[in-house]
Amino acid sequence: MHGKTSYPIAFSPLDLGFTRLKNRFLMGSMHTGLEELPNGFPRMARYFAERAKGGVGMIITGGISPNIEGGSGAKLSTSEEAQAHREITDAVHKADPEVKICMQILHMGPLARGKYAVAPSAVRSRIARAAPIELDAAGIEKQLDDFVNCAVKAKEAGYDGVEVIGSAGYLISTFLVQKTNLRTDEWGGPFENRMRFAVECIRRIRQAVGDQFILIFRIAAMDMLEGGMSWDEVVQLAKAIEEVGANIISTHFTWHEAAVPTIATMVPRAAFTGVTGRLKKHLGIPLITSNRINMPSVAEEVLRRGDADIVSMARPMLADADLVVKAWEGREDEINTCIACNQACLDHTFTGQEVSCLVNPRACHETKLNYLPVAKIKKLAVVGAGPAGLAFSEIAASRGHHVTLFEQSSEIGGQFNLAKQIPGKEEFHETIRYFRRTIDKYSILLNLNCKVTVSQLVKEGFDEVIVATGITPRVPDLPGITHEKAVGYIDVISGNRAVGRKVAIMGAGGIGFDVAELISHTGKSAALDRQIFAQEWGIDFDNHPRGGVTGVKPVVASADREITLLQRKATPVGRGLGKTTGWTHRITLNRRGVKMINGVEYLKIDDLGLHLLINNEHQILDVDTVVICAGQTSQRGIYDELTDKGVKVHLIGGAFEAAELDAKRAINQAAHLAAQV
Ligand code: NAP
Ligand code: SF4
Repeated sequence: MHGKTSYPIAFSPLDLGFTRLKNRFLMGSMHTGLEELPNGFPRMARYFAERAKGGVGMIITGGISPNIEGGSGAKLSTSEEAQAHREITDAVHKADPEVKICMQILHMGPLARGKYAVAPSAVRSRIARAAPIELDAAGIEKQLDDFVNCAVKAKEAGYDGVEVIGSAGYLISTFLVQKTNLRTDEWGGPFENRMRFAVECIRRIRQAVGDQFILIFRIAAMDMLEGGMSWDEVVQLAKAIEEVGANIISTHFTWHEAAVPTIATMVPRAAFTGVTGRLKKHLGIPLITSNRINMPSVAEEVLRRGDADIVSMARPMLADADLVVKAWEGREDEINTCIACNQACLDHTFTGQEVSCLVNPRACHETKLNYLPVAKIKKLAVVGAGPAGLAFSEIAASRGHHVTLFEQSSEIGGQFNLAKQIPGKEEFHETIRYFRRTIDKYSILLNLNCKVTVSQLVKEGFDEVIVATGITPRVPDLPGITHEKAVGYIDVISGNRAVGRKVAIMGAGGIGFDVAELISHTGKSAALDRQIFAQEWGIDFDNHPRGGVTGVKPVVASADREITLLQRKATPVGRGLGKTTGWTHRITLNRRGVKMINGVEYLKIDDLGLHLLINNEHQILDVDTVVICAGQTSQRGIYDELTDKGVKVHLIGGAFEAAELDAKRAINQAAHLAAQV
């Protein structure tokens, strides 16, 4: 790549002696589910090749197990399996011979799926179904042999290196920590023994693969476990790993079972890189840092501070395959920024669905969903500039259609304009910025403050009309629903109506939780302040007690309000929230004293408050305000009338189906329609 850049450090090459990385942008490892699909390899080849073309310096694949016990769903232990990986390594090297691709070796240990989970001791993880089988001495040697064999096969498959994951609660990390390693032989007891497995693993791999192969060790630099690794142990391990031949150390934060968010959207950008910076002072080899680094400016700042030598971005590369090349060319405002929602990536991984991205439905679907130039240009009208209308307009216009976008309000963004008001969801500003830019880039004719009529659409002679008019909040059929105490969520979030000190929230879906977050919150958003975030989650960055959290009590500031979050279902409140983020919202609200009650029946709202049946008992919640968060109904707007007039019309997003609507589904549906139209 040639030209000037605003990110001189990020774009400087990194010399590893026998090879070099062309820049400091790393596409971090992320399991996509493609690894174990029958047609997964051609899909992965395309997925990674697009990111290689998009400018990253190095790619780490999703985790591949060294054996059946490793349990990640895909293993590499034979030459035949290595042959299948050739498709990936060839595609990446063909896309850009300068790009390095390393395979992650993932042995899940006690978190392995299936019946072969093994670990140093039979200690069940909080998030595993069963206790693992305790390895005997021969079993440990076998695991080490399998790690070595896997690395050798990765080299045979054409990878430039391997990353060995020694964190997150997977096998290697369970040797390191006292609570999961109860052994009394040479693999347990004092830290020197507990780190033996990790060190032996790297030492033996290096011996087997030779000097000309990138070897990365991923360390839990702050494991977020009560009684986890001390800082001295982290340093001791990292130094030992360097000594036995690793080229790079990659810092990771948290184990999956820890109750501290490290990648969710409420985590401040680059919150953890300071920990990498401290470790870097002890080592001679380069360090990778990660977590919530989603824009090139953040990456450059992290590198400028000297926190790391390489910056890992995993989800941001799902959101935009061309992030790096856009940064190089000064087109940052065209970057489709990862908003750290986890909705289509990690939530899918942990529920066994194929991974994609909420803001980029092509992610991991590169062979299936393509936005090809059109043969016949159409004149298209899109009604509604919410997520569905915007995504459709962008993609259709990028293919060459002439798109006119009508929006009745004064701004684009629809429901995203509400989401961005919620503390911890500030990243939605980026998505709106992205769409605003695409409107200019693809010359989409935007008409704000325009409630377009059927006759206008017919008169202007559009070939097709896309109705993306969204939703209207559901108003429950309840006596007193028009009482002055009852307020809709849109009015509350947009600040049009104040809420009192005692508040009931009717409906505990995503919006009910958002409202509870907004009105229970006080002061600056923790997502914008690392110190506040650390206090709220009980992390001590300065003193680094064991795991970073041992003995640190979370301190949560909350607004002076009594809040009750209600739902009719008997299921636990918040169960329907995202798999990987729901728990953070439940914990936060619990700490702020928000009461959550399920199984209620609403009776009426009057001057006394909200009347309910709870366990068949009549109760009155003496509240000043009842915020209605009872879901939505579709707003089909002009769809039926247009159909009657014989206009070719499509219905997308919330207007199509409001039930359980979310932006992921709306954008995905819009993208598929825009790819075909
Ligand atoms: P929702 O998830 O459908 O929840 C609304 C809740 O209102 C329902 O769970 C239902 O629970 C209750 N309800 C339904 N009809 C009712 C009635 N007639 N009277 C009283 N209560 C009624 O809708 P939402 O919370 O508005 O969220 C909309 C969409 O945006 C969802 O798909 C959500 O996932 C998405 N969203 C996601 C996030 C996120 O962070 N991922 C955040 C915000 C929104 P009961 O019947 O059990 O009371
Ligand atoms: Fe980022 Fe959300 Fe896309 Fe995952 S789904 S990559 S978190 S924007």
